[in-house]
Amino acid sequence: MPILNRVAEMQEEVAGWRRHLHETPELLYDVFETSTFVARKLKEFGCDTVESGLGKTGVVGIIKGRHGDGPTIGFRADMDALPITETSGKPWTSKVPGKAHSCGHDGHTAMLLGAAQYLAETRNFKGSVAVIFQPAEEGGAGALAMLDDGMMDKFGIKEVYGMHNAPGMPVGNFAIRKGSLMAAADSFEIEIIGNGSHAAAPHLSIDPVLASAHVIIALQSIVSREVDPLKSLVISVTTTHGGTAHNVIPGSVTLTGTVRTLLPETRDFAEKRLTEVAQATAIAHGAKAEVNYHRGYPVTFNHDNETEFAIGIASSIAGAAGVEANTPPRMGAEDFSYMLESRPGAFIFIGNGDTAGLHHPSYDFNDDVLPYGISYWVKMAETALAA
Ligand SMILES: [Zn+2]
Ligand SMILES: [Zn+2]
Repeated sequence: MPILNRVAEMQEEVAGWRRHLHETPELLYDVFETSTFVARKLKEFGCDTVESGLGKTGVVGIIKGRHGDGPTIGFRADMDALPITETSGKPWTSKVPGKAHSCGHDGHTAMLLGAAQYLAETRNFKGSVAVIFQPAEEGGAGALAMLDDGMMDKFGIKEVYGMHNAPGMPVGNFAIRKGSLMAAADSFEIEIIGNGSHAAAPHLSIDPVLASAHVIIALQSIVSREVDPLKSLVISVTTTHGGTAHNVIPGSVTLTGTVRTLLPETRDFAEKRLTEVAQATAIAHGAKAEVNYHRGYPVTFNHDNETEFAIGIASSIAGAAGVEANTPPRMGAEDFSYMLESRPGAFIFIGNGDTAGLHHPSYDFNDDVLPYGISYWVKMAETALAA
């Protein structure tokens, strides 16, 4: 297995950082201790620039190669934990009640720190590597906050890569695909406004309950009749609220739900048609629909050339048989999507072995993965920025 000697040597040290981070989980943007730890390490390694406070609590370190000028390539890790009470029983179990690193972001941060240490020691490349540590991946759009603070332009980042551990996949294996890897996750609220009346005199009302029933059914016709069946779309109405008594027709009914898509064009289409169909169906019943569509994380869309490149790097570590190069898309969502909208790049899964699933209270990142993840970053830097 072509793990570099120095990387193998570093494993215990990096595992120590990982376990320290695991014991002290922090949520969303409140990753103050974690980001302070990261920034201190980056300075100790001798990074040329260490900047904190991007996207509130994000950190970027810049490492210049010793072979002269060249482009800057960005590697990203996430730092936040989850509001979960850990039950892993490991000696390094969370010391913070109700918070745990149940998505393995402690491992992601440790691997990127390990790579930063190696790259700052060796600098066997031209141009620069930007190591990006983001807050608030778990629903807070920390990646977007860092982009809004001008991170890409500020450091001249040309390409960007991300990695997530995958329980159930063997340690040292990778999985990736070109195009859509993870779903966009949007939500909506539709208020159907009619006119209330005595339930015994429906002709004096505009009944929003009946109109809402037609809206719910009509929305499913977008999925079944208007979108290519091979282009995934899920529309789920998950709550309906309206009315106060069996003998009163209410004035309004509110529906909420979620939309999941794997292609940007399907997402745009779903937003447009959901709004039109809800409004037109309400009008057909004499009512009115007010639609509030909220876009969550976008599709995690891997760029072709950068995905090919990532497959090559992963294969150099895992062998071709250890890389699933056309893995099925997953309907979960990932904040790194915003960075892939901003720059070309690719997101890859790395096997976490036979462990509990992500977001499960007994989950723990597998420290055996560390050298593989560090090697991926190191080889990527030395290959993309070869002198
Ligand atoms: Zn997660
Ligand atoms: Zn995660």
